[in-house]
Amino acid sequence: MKLKKLEILGFKSFRDRTVLEFPEGVSGVVGPNGCGKSNVVDAIRWVLGEMRVTMLRGKKMEDVIFNGSEDAPPVGMAEVTMVLEKGPYTFPGAYADCAEVMISRRLFRSGESEYSINNVPVRLLDVREFFMDTGVGARTYSLVEQGSIASMVEVKPEERRAFIEEAAGLPSTGTARNRPSGKWSPPGRT
Ligand code: ATP
Repeated sequence: MKLKKLEILGFKSFRDRTVLEFPEGVSGVVGPNGCGKSNVVDAIRWVLGEMRVTMLRGKKMEDVIFNGSEDAPPVGMAEVTMVLEKGPYTFPGAYADCAEVMISRRLFRSGESEYSINNVPVRLLDVREFFMDTGVGARTYSLVEQGSIASMVEVKPEERRAFIEEAAGLPSTGTARNRPSGKWSPPGRT
Protein backbone atom coordinates (compact mmCIF):
# COMPACT_ATOMS: atom_id res chain seq x y z
CA MET A 1 0.00 0.00 0.00
CA LYS A 2 1.06 3.56 -0.61
CA LEU A 3 0.44 6.77 1.30
CA LYS A 4 -1.52 8.96 -1.12
CA LYS A 5 -2.75 11.84 1.01
CA LEU A 6 -2.71 13.17 4.54
CA GLU A 7 -5.31 15.64 5.82
CA ILE A 8 -4.51 17.40 9.07
CA LEU A 9 -6.92 19.65 10.98
CA GLY A 10 -6.38 21.14 14.44
CA PHE A 11 -3.43 18.83 15.02
CA LYS A 12 -0.32 20.39 16.65
CA SER A 13 0.75 23.44 14.58
CA PHE A 14 -1.84 22.70 11.81
CA ARG A 15 -4.84 24.76 12.93
CA ASP A 16 -6.51 24.93 9.50
CA ARG A 17 -7.24 21.95 7.28
CA THR A 18 -3.98 21.10 5.52
CA VAL A 19 -3.80 18.55 2.73
CA LEU A 20 -0.48 16.93 1.89
CA GLU A 21 -0.42 14.90 -1.31
CA PHE A 22 2.27 12.28 -1.90
CA PRO A 23 2.30 11.64 -5.66
CA GLU A 24 4.79 9.29 -7.29
CA GLY A 25 8.31 10.60 -6.79
CA VAL A 26 7.79 12.47 -3.52
CA SER A 27 10.22 11.01 -1.04
CA GLY A 28 10.63 13.61 1.65
CA VAL A 29 9.33 16.66 3.49
CA VAL A 30 11.82 19.50 3.86
CA GLY A 31 11.69 22.87 5.59
CA PRO A 32 13.48 25.07 8.11
CA ASN A 33 13.78 24.03 11.75
CA GLY A 34 10.53 24.42 13.66
CA CYS A 35 8.27 24.66 10.58
CA GLY A 36 6.35 21.51 11.55
CA LYS A 37 8.05 18.65 9.66
CA SER A 38 8.09 16.44 12.74
CA ASN A 39 4.43 17.33 13.34
CA VAL A 40 3.67 15.68 9.97
CA VAL A 41 5.42 12.51 11.14
CA ASP A 42 3.55 12.76 14.47
CA ALA A 43 0.27 13.02 12.52
CA ILE A 44 1.06 9.80 10.62
CA ARG A 45 2.06 8.02 13.82
CA TRP A 46 -1.08 9.26 15.56
CA VAL A 47 -3.54 8.20 12.86
CA LEU A 48 -1.91 4.74 12.90
CA GLY A 49 -3.09 4.48 16.51
CA GLU A 50 -0.11 5.61 18.61
CA MET A 51 -1.18 5.84 22.26
CA ARG A 52 2.20 6.66 23.83
CA VAL A 53 2.26 10.45 24.22
CA THR A 54 6.04 10.48 24.53
CA MET A 55 6.25 9.09 20.98
CA LEU A 56 4.19 12.12 19.93
CA ARG A 57 6.51 14.47 21.81
CA GLY A 58 3.83 15.52 24.30
CA LYS A 59 3.05 15.13 27.99
CA LYS A 60 -0.64 14.28 27.63
CA MET A 61 -2.70 13.25 24.61
CA GLU A 62 -4.49 16.61 24.60
CA ASP A 63 -1.16 18.22 23.59
CA VAL A 64 -1.76 17.07 20.00
CA ILE A 65 -4.72 19.47 19.70
CA PHE A 66 -3.78 22.92 18.32
CA ASN A 67 -3.18 24.97 21.41
CA GLY A 68 -3.32 28.46 19.93
CA SER A 69 -0.70 30.78 18.51
CA GLU A 70 -0.06 34.54 18.44
CA ASP A 71 -2.84 35.06 15.91
CA ALA A 72 -5.26 32.18 16.52
CA PRO A 73 -7.09 30.81 19.57
CA PRO A 74 -6.90 27.09 20.49
CA VAL A 75 -9.31 24.66 18.81
CA GLY A 76 -11.37 21.90 20.39
CA MET A 77 -10.59 18.97 18.12
CA ALA A 78 -7.68 17.39 16.27
CA GLU A 79 -8.31 15.23 13.23
CA VAL A 80 -5.94 13.37 10.94
CA THR A 81 -7.02 11.42 7.88
CA MET A 82 -4.73 9.18 5.90
CA VAL A 83 -5.63 8.03 2.40
CA LEU A 84 -3.88 4.87 1.23
CA GLU A 85 -3.71 3.52 -2.31
CA LYS A 86 -3.60 -0.20 -2.82
CA GLY A 87 -0.47 -0.44 -4.99
CA PRO A 88 0.49 -3.88 -6.35
CA TYR A 89 -1.24 -5.83 -3.53
CA THR A 90 -4.85 -5.80 -2.37
CA PHE A 91 -5.84 -4.38 1.00
CA PRO A 92 -6.40 -6.92 3.78
CA GLY A 93 -9.68 -8.60 4.75
CA ALA A 94 -12.92 -6.71 4.19
CA TYR A 95 -11.08 -3.99 2.26
CA ALA A 96 -9.72 -6.29 -0.44
CA ASP A 97 -11.97 -4.78 -3.13
CA CYS A 98 -11.07 -1.15 -2.34
CA ALA A 99 -8.71 0.85 -4.54
CA GLU A 100 -8.26 3.35 -1.69
CA VAL A 101 -8.77 3.20 2.06
CA MET A 102 -9.29 6.25 4.27
CA ILE A 103 -8.35 6.01 7.95
CA SER A 104 -9.24 8.82 10.38
CA ARG A 105 -8.65 9.57 14.02
CA ARG A 106 -10.24 12.41 16.01
CA LEU A 107 -9.67 13.65 19.52
CA PHE A 108 -11.80 16.21 21.35
CA ARG A 109 -10.65 18.27 24.33
CA SER A 110 -13.27 16.42 26.39
CA GLY A 111 -11.06 13.33 25.91
CA GLU A 112 -13.53 11.68 23.54
CA SER A 113 -11.78 9.91 20.70
CA GLU A 114 -12.99 8.40 17.42
CA TYR A 115 -11.52 6.21 14.72
CA SER A 116 -13.01 5.47 11.33
CA ILE A 117 -12.14 3.46 8.24
CA ASN A 118 -13.79 4.63 5.01
CA ASN A 119 -16.03 6.91 7.13
CA VAL A 120 -17.38 3.99 9.18
CA PRO A 121 -16.69 4.31 12.93
CA VAL A 122 -14.34 1.56 14.14
CA ARG A 123 -12.29 0.70 17.23
CA LEU A 124 -8.56 1.27 17.62
CA LEU A 125 -8.27 -2.53 17.49
CA ASP A 126 -9.75 -2.52 13.98
CA VAL A 127 -7.17 0.04 12.81
CA ARG A 128 -4.40 -2.08 14.32
CA GLU A 129 -5.82 -5.22 12.70
CA PHE A 130 -6.00 -3.49 9.32
CA PHE A 131 -2.26 -2.82 9.46
CA MET A 132 -1.32 -6.16 10.98
CA ASP A 133 1.06 -8.12 8.72
CA THR A 134 1.47 -5.14 6.37
CA GLY A 135 4.68 -3.91 7.96
CA VAL A 136 3.02 -0.52 8.52
CA GLY A 137 2.27 0.69 12.02
CA ALA A 138 2.96 3.27 14.67
CA ARG A 139 5.54 0.94 16.23
CA THR A 140 7.22 -0.56 13.19
CA TYR A 141 10.15 0.52 11.06
CA SER A 142 7.82 2.04 8.48
CA LEU A 143 8.38 5.22 10.52
CA VAL A 144 11.96 6.12 11.27
CA GLU A 145 12.34 9.33 13.21
CA GLN A 146 15.31 11.69 13.47
CA GLY A 147 18.14 10.13 15.44
CA SER A 148 16.93 6.54 15.23
CA ILE A 149 19.27 5.65 12.34
CA ALA A 150 22.19 6.83 14.47
CA SER A 151 21.01 4.76 17.42
CA MET A 152 20.70 1.63 15.23
CA VAL A 153 24.20 2.11 13.86
CA GLU A 154 25.66 2.71 17.31
CA VAL A 155 24.03 -0.15 19.28
CA LYS A 156 25.91 -3.32 20.30
CA PRO A 157 25.83 -6.12 17.69
CA GLU A 158 23.45 -8.33 19.74
CA GLU A 159 20.97 -5.46 20.07
CA ARG A 160 21.26 -4.73 16.35
CA ARG A 161 20.39 -8.39 15.75
CA ALA A 162 17.12 -7.84 17.67
CA PHE A 163 16.29 -4.87 15.39
CA ILE A 164 16.96 -6.96 12.26
CA GLU A 165 14.91 -9.89 13.58
CA GLU A 166 12.02 -7.61 14.41
CA ALA A 167 12.16 -5.90 11.00
CA ALA A 168 12.16 -9.34 9.34
CA GLY A 169 9.08 -10.29 11.36
CA LEU A 170 10.87 -13.09 13.24
CA PRO A 171 9.71 -13.92 16.76
CA SER A 172 11.96 -12.05 19.13
CA THR A 173 14.77 -14.10 20.63
CA GLY A 174 15.62 -11.18 22.90
CA THR A 175 19.08 -9.79 23.37
CA ALA A 176 21.89 -12.14 24.36
CA ARG A 177 21.58 -10.85 27.92
CA ASN A 178 17.89 -11.76 28.10
CA ARG A 179 18.10 -15.05 26.24
CA PRO A 180 17.57 -18.15 28.42
CA SER A 181 20.85 -19.95 29.19
CA GLY A 182 19.32 -23.33 28.30
CA LYS A 183 20.23 -24.74 31.72
CA TRP A 184 17.43 -26.19 33.76
CA SER A 185 17.31 -25.57 37.50
CA PRO A 186 15.03 -27.56 39.78
CA PRO A 187 12.33 -25.49 41.49
CA GLY A 188 13.59 -23.70 44.58
CA ARG A 189 17.24 -23.70 43.43
CA THR A 190 17.13 -20.79 40.98
P1 ATP B 1 12.55 20.06 13.37
O1 ATP B 1 13.01 20.52 12.05
O2 ATP B 1 13.48 20.44 14.48
O3 ATP B 1 12.10 18.64 13.42
P2 ATP B 1 9.98 20.80 12.94
O4 ATP B 1 9.98 21.63 11.71
O5 ATP B 1 9.65 19.38 12.75
O6 ATP B 1 11.29 20.92 13.70
P3 ATP B 1 8.20 20.70 15.14
O7 ATP B 1 9.14 20.24 16.18
O8 ATP B 1 7.31 19.69 14.54
O9 ATP B 1 8.97 21.44 13.97
O10 ATP B 1 7.33 21.89 15.78
C1 ATP B 1 6.81 22.94 15.02
C2 ATP B 1 5.99 23.87 15.84
O11 ATP B 1 4.79 23.22 16.23
C3 ATP B 1 6.60 24.40 17.13
O12 ATP B 1 6.72 25.79 17.02
C4 ATP B 1 5.59 24.07 18.21
O13 ATP B 1 5.36 25.13 19.11
C5 ATP B 1 4.33 23.86 17.40
N1 ATP B 1 3.35 23.02 18.11
C6 ATP B 1 3.50 21.77 18.59
N2 ATP B 1 2.37 21.34 19.21
C7 ATP B 1 1.47 22.36 19.10
C8 ATP B 1 0.12 22.54 19.54
N3 ATP B 1 -0.57 21.60 20.20
N4 ATP B 1 -0.49 23.73 19.25
C9 ATP B 1 0.15 24.70 18.58
N5 ATP B 1 1.43 24.59 18.13
C10 ATP B 1 2.08 23.43 18.40
